[in-house]
Order: sequence, then structure tokens, then C-alpha cells
Amino acid sequence: METFDYVIIGSGSAGSVLTHRLSEHANTRVCVLEAGPRDWHPYIHLPAGFIKTFHMKSINWAYQQEPGPYTGGRSIYAPRGKTLGGSSSINGHIYNRGQRQDFDTWAQLGNRGWGYADVLPYFKRLERRVGEGEDTFRGRDGNLTVTTMDWKDPLCEAFMEGAVSLGIPRNFDYNGAIQEGVSYCQRTIEKGLRMSAAKAFLHPARKRPNVDVRTHAHVTNIIFEGKRAVGVRYLKGGRGGTPVEVRASKEVILCGGTYNSPQLLQLSGVGSPELLKSHGIEVRHALPGVGEGLQDHYAPRSVARVKNIRTINELRQGWHLWMEALKWATTRRGLLSLSPTMVYCFWHSGETTESSDLQLTFTPASYKEGVQGQLEDQPGMTVASWQQRPESRGYVRIRSNDPFAPPIIQTNYLTAELDRRVVVAGMKLARRLLKSAPLAPYYDYEDFPGPKVQSDEEFLVAATQRGTTTFHPGCTCRMGPAESTWAVVDDQLRVHGLQGLRVIDASIMPRMISANLNASTMMIADKASDLVRGKAPMEAVRLPEAAVA
Ligand SMILES: Cc1cc2nc3c(=O)[nH]c(=O)nc-3n(C[C@H](O)[C@H](O)[C@H](O)COP(=O)(O)OP(=O)(O)OC[C@H]3O[C@@H](n4cnc5c(N)ncnc54)[C@H](O)[C@@H]3O)c2cc1C
Repeated sequence: METFDYVIIGSGSAGSVLTHRLSEHANTRVCVLEAGPRDWHPYIHLPAGFIKTFHMKSINWAYQQEPGPYTGGRSIYAPRGKTLGGSSSINGHIYNRGQRQDFDTWAQLGNRGWGYADVLPYFKRLERRVGEGEDTFRGRDGNLTVTTMDWKDPLCEAFMEGAVSLGIPRNFDYNGAIQEGVSYCQRTIEKGLRMSAAKAFLHPARKRPNVDVRTHAHVTNIIFEGKRAVGVRYLKGGRGGTPVEVRASKEVILCGGTYNSPQLLQLSGVGSPELLKSHGIEVRHALPGVGEGLQDHYAPRSVARVKNIRTINELRQGWHLWMEALKWATTRRGLLSLSPTMVYCFWHSGETTESSDLQLTFTPASYKEGVQGQLEDQPGMTVASWQQRPESRGYVRIRSNDPFAPPIIQTNYLTAELDRRVVVAGMKLARRLLKSAPLAPYYDYEDFPGPKVQSDEEFLVAATQRGTTTFHPGCTCRMGPAESTWAVVDDQLRVHGLQGLRVIDASIMPRMISANLNASTMMIADKASDLVRGKAPMEAVRLPEAAVA
């Protein structure tokens, strides 16, 4: 049987960064197992290809969530990347780290070394920021290129002016000292092409002779000797494929993402004994927190019809699209270089909230309801709004002992009362923004939720009918002290009670952060690479007093 120092399961945002760092030493042998194919498909790299990869089953796990108490009976679609780069190869390219208090809260929960000042050096080490940003907060020498949206659109400009007219300031860098404000979004795009974690970290690492990346390698379980993880078993070619085992002389590292990491632990006998026994799985190690605590951002998308100007909805039709294709081919600019959202806005749901608890995005386009990811034919503009730090929690549990059966995903959106209040406040702010004076020349009428919706109760009903995921699931293998019943890994990301096994991906977040998750997932992996190698952590950043949010 082949033996490596480290066997990494999953080549997504976390797995790519980790592979890069761990293989820096030529005598460290790293094997990466990825269930999906190589990331060759052109739609992965073309920014507007997002709309295609969103449903492309060859590179997307394409999960369905369970209907929840506040989803109006709907089962919400949950795409996840299944290729080199994982979800960073199909995501919306937005680069957003979150607020200082997000990470300080992780530390307050008992996780040493995870406060904002501790993690900031890793955010900086990863990135090559092109554009505005103070050196205290931004890195300029990393592999991950971060640019600012360069498509200046009159509707976006009017939206931002409208925000300013409501008292929301322009912010030149929401990844700097203060998050709140409005601006064009920052993106992991370089020269009109997607900068996935694979492109930035995995592909350079693959050139090293000590790295072995295997695609179409679906891991079915972790192999243990007693309480020690010693290797993994996978099926080469997926279901029905050839069984292969590889051993790890140092560690097995699980980077399967928020849905698949807990699923694989459960399939391997690590989790709630009741759950495992109900599926006939022998309990290797009782750890009730596995899969529990799932959090995500839930966003209703408010839509207004547009007049007197062309929106993206028309620009992608007929000869316009041909012109845009030509523009992209010759300049790497234009419609095909766009991301699904273009302007970011962070604000407060109420006057008393200390830091921004609402995130809003603006797009000069609108999407077909019920067919997520598809543009409408008539002109429209959309404001998605969501609560940044939800309290509702759900779970991921295996459906059966079949490793190819999709897990049960129940996010329990809006079950916490606070979440319902903040989401309603977000929809009301979205309406005010769309009705602001600078947008008036283009605003035709409100399509969703519609003028009949006036009371908080009516807004909530509308939210339950049309809200959807913003694709930010986390927190299913939470990091916390051994004595907390919910914790799965310690602050070194080692699985409690087991040896030779860590989980390193978005699932270890103890609480949801005020951001999209790609940046922080890569930060987690980068910091973890030092933990795995036993290196001293990077020196904490001395933060200026004013940097409070
Ligand atoms: C449609 C979409 C849009 C998004 N938009 C944004 C955005 O604009 N900005 C942002 O910051 N975040 C965004 N996100 C979220 C962000 O991309 C993810 O949070 C992040 O990529 C998660 O990283 P991860 O390493 O935890 O998991 P992933 O990147 O999902 O990686 C997990 C990897 O493990 C592999 N794997 C899983 N199980 C197995 C197995 N059994 N055997 C072998 N391999 C396995 C998977 O195939 C995958 O490659 C988006 C996500 C999606 C899906």
C-alpha cells in the first residue's frame, strides 16, 4: 500500500492552500484525493460561466436541502464545487473577509490564536491585493490575486449614490479597518479570469515531485487503527470504481467542506452513536457534535423593474452577447468578465446594533424565480439582503451508509427570532435603497416583494417564499474546547479524542462570520498549515485603536 506523509481529502479552497504549504518542503510527500475531475472546463475560468457551472453536475455536488420551517415548503438548492479548487472553482468570485469581531468571538469561545489580530497575518500572506488598501490590512505578495470590479455601470453608480443619500458612506476597502459602507465588490479575478484556490495554490504545488493529486478519487471512509487515523479508502472512478487504499504516516486531513466533511466522519464511525447505529455503522468514536450546528446566510432577493436603461438581462441576448463575447476575447473585459453581484453594502438593521449586521448586494440584473442562476428576459435590478451573523442552526446527517447518498442537509433558516427580525429589516432597507432618488430615473416598479407587502409579518411571509442560500454553509465540525459538547476539533483543528486526524475547511468555523466564506476558509487552511508543521504562528498584527469593525 502506498504511504505518504499527509493524505488530504478534497482539493477545494482549504485543500489547495494546505497542499501548497505542506509540500513546500521537498521531502514531505502529500497525496490529495479529489472526488471530481480536473478543472479544465472553460466555464470554470470565464467569470460569467458561473451561471453555467451553477447546475453542471459533472463538477458540482448539486445538493438539495430539506424544506425547513421557514422556507415555505421549498427545498433549497445547495451547489458545491466538485473539481480541483472545489467551491472556489464555481463560486461568485467575491473576496470578503468579515469583521474583526467575528474572529474575536471565535477566540472568546476558547480557541487560542484565532482572534482577528492572530488571523490577519494569514489573510495578508495569502493575497496579492491589486488596488486600494492600507498595508496594515492588505497583502501584496501572495498567490491569490484580489482586484476590484472594473465595470462601471450607471445603475451601480446610482445605487451607491442612493446608499450615500440614506447615510451609508462609501468605503474604499471593506476588507480594511471598517467593513460598513458601500462600494464595488472585490473579486478573485485576474485579467478577466477566475482566480480559484486551485489556480493560485494547487496548480503551482502540483508541479512539485512530492505532490500527488488524484482526481475522480471518491473517498468512502477513513481507516483507523484503534483511535488513530492511518489512511483512507477511495473508489477510483467513483461509484463502482476500483477500491484503493493509501496510508498517511503523519496525518489524514479532511478538507471535504461543510457538507461532506461531517458526512465522511459519520461514514467512518465518528459522530453521534444514535445516528451511526441507526444506519448500521459501527461506532469508532462517539462525538455528538459531528454535523451539528450548520449555519448559512439566508437571502431574499428584492427585485425592481427597470426603465430608460439597459440591464444585463438584455445585454446577454442576441447580437449584444456576440459583441460581448468579442469584447471578452480581445480585452478580457465586459459582460463575460462579470460576477453575479457587483456592489456590496454593509449596514445596520437598527440604530442600536454596534457593527453592521446586514449585508446587501446589488446587481443590475434579475433572475428567474425557481430557476436559480438564470437571468430574466425583461429589465430588472436586484438587491439581495441577509443577516450577517445568524443564530439559527441546523445539521448535516448521513441519509444511509451509502457513501454516494447525498447527506441530509437541514439548515433551519430563520428559526431564531432574531434572524427573522433582521431579515425583515434587510428587506425594508433594500426597498428604501431601490426607491432612492438617484435610482428614480430608472426605477419602474417593485416586482418583489411587491407594493402590497407593508407590514413586518408580510415581509416575513415574502422572505419565506423566495429566500435562498447565499452558498455560505459552515460550522458542522466546530472548533472549540474538549469540554464543550458541540466541539468536533480543538484549536489546532485536531479531531477531539482521535489521533492523526484533522478537519481543515469551512466546517470548523464555530460561528458564522459577516462575510462570504472563501477568504476565511483559505485563511483557516493557511494558519492550519503552520499548526500541522509545528511552526510558530505568524506574529499577531498590532491593530490601530480605531480598527473596531
Ligand atoms: C455557487 C457558490 C457561490 C459562492 N460564492 C462565493 C463568493 O462569491 N465568495 C466567497 O467568499 N464564497 C463564495 N462561496 C463559498 C465558498 O466558495 C466556500 O465557502 C469555500 O469554497 C469552501 O471551501 P472548503 O474548502 O470548505 O470546501 P470546498 O471548496 O467545497 O472543497 C471541498 C472539496 O472536497 C471534495 N470532496 C468532498 N467530499 C469528498 C470525498 N468523499 N472524496 C474526495 N473528495 C471530496 C469536493 O469535491 C471539493 O473539491 C460560494 C459557494 C458556491 C457553491
